[in-house]
Amino acid sequence: MSDQVSSAAALTALAKRYWLPVYKPREMVLDHGKGSRVWDTDGRDYIDLSAGIAVNALGHQDPDLLEALTTQAHKLWHVSNAFYSEPPLRLAEELVELAPFAEKVFFANSGAEANEAAIKLVRRWAAQQGRPPEQRTILTFKGSFHGRTLATVTATAQPKYQEGYEPLPSGFRYLPFNDQAALEQAFAAGDVAAVLVEPIQGEGGVVPAEPAFLQRARELCDAHGALLVFDEIQCGMGRTGRLFAHQHYGLSPDIVTLAKALGGGFPIGATLVGPKLAEVMQYGAHGTTFGGNPLAAAVARAALRKLASPSLLGHVDKQSEVLRQGLDSIDAELGLFDLVRGRGLLMGAVLSAPYRGRAGEILDFAAGHGVLLLQAGPDVLRFVPPLTISEEELAEGLSRLRQALRDFVAQVAAA
Ligand code: PLP
Repeated sequence: MSDQVSSAAALTALAKRYWLPVYKPREMVLDHGKGSRVWDTDGRDYIDLSAGIAVNALGHQDPDLLEALTTQAHKLWHVSNAFYSEPPLRLAEELVELAPFAEKVFFANSGAEANEAAIKLVRRWAAQQGRPPEQRTILTFKGSFHGRTLATVTATAQPKYQEGYEPLPSGFRYLPFNDQAALEQAFAAGDVAAVLVEPIQGEGGVVPAEPAFLQRARELCDAHGALLVFDEIQCGMGRTGRLFAHQHYGLSPDIVTLAKALGGGFPIGATLVGPKLAEVMQYGAHGTTFGGNPLAAAVARAALRKLASPSLLGHVDKQSEVLRQGLDSIDAELGLFDLVRGRGLLMGAVLSAPYRGRAGEILDFAAGHGVLLLQAGPDVLRFVPPLTISEEELAEGLSRLRQALRDFVAQVAAA
């Protein structure tokens, strides 16, 4: 171990030497952040339009989160679920009060675990209905992303995440997204126990579900005695301008999964369940050591208070418009995008034909110009800034992005 101040090159070399090489971070080391700005170890600053993949919804160093974290850290960090502590009890109460469909909550540490609990709830519910295992199928959609555990990666209808991990758990079927006819046909098989769907596909390219499609999913679930599960891990917690993305659709789900922004940067996931599932799992049916520990829950309570506030949600709507207009204006100059889609501060810019497949390169240009963004596949630039991003920060981010994209287009033209 070394106490020396290390250069970015020396630090990233540690990743190559010691990390299982499943990630490919940019060649810089982030050191600290404030609001929607982060600084690297060389002192360069970046406007953060990525928010740790839609996690830092309140930006960096939010004073209320800091206060909640440090206050709780001086009291009690962890007790396990063999004992009660106040923060997860209060957090469950507050979530249920805010989610009209929900009666009970299970806390986990991540999105994948929140979905894993949802999958297990569906299966156990179906078993209790007397359905044999082959009639406990969960329908998911092409382009979806639900996590990396074996069950959630199987739910994720993208072969690239599954290849090499066979045998995969059975009982999942994949359908095209936003295709009502395919959905109707799938239900006709008579084996469907649940539909698991993101109201806005995040990783799959920032693709919103069409209202009629989700409405039909609800109707078919009701008609066939199946459950409707919304994965709001990326699109929930205020990101679309409502606390829950499904509120835009006026639908009542049976399960909603949350993670990411719920802890504002502190790992926590939650599975919210409605009345059909509230009594499905009894003592010993599921569990976790860390899920909903006092530290995570205390931070999530502070995050939830702010994320549910009308002023924050109004701010998201306003900044969403600014972001959309900024991207439209960049497109008017450079002709880079086929379309800009999404809702609130979950926005995707779909690259036009000459630039398809090059989102990764664009991210490099953006970082080089002091702006952090994400891709959603090779063809879509994904924007998920902190929901608290100020007008100045967003203007600065868009201006840096415009310059980065000008340079990118010039390089492509010169090649
Ligand atoms: N579901 C959705 C919609 C996600 O976007 C993600 C992560 O990107 C997950 C589930 C998995 O969450 P985690 O990485 O916390 O396990």
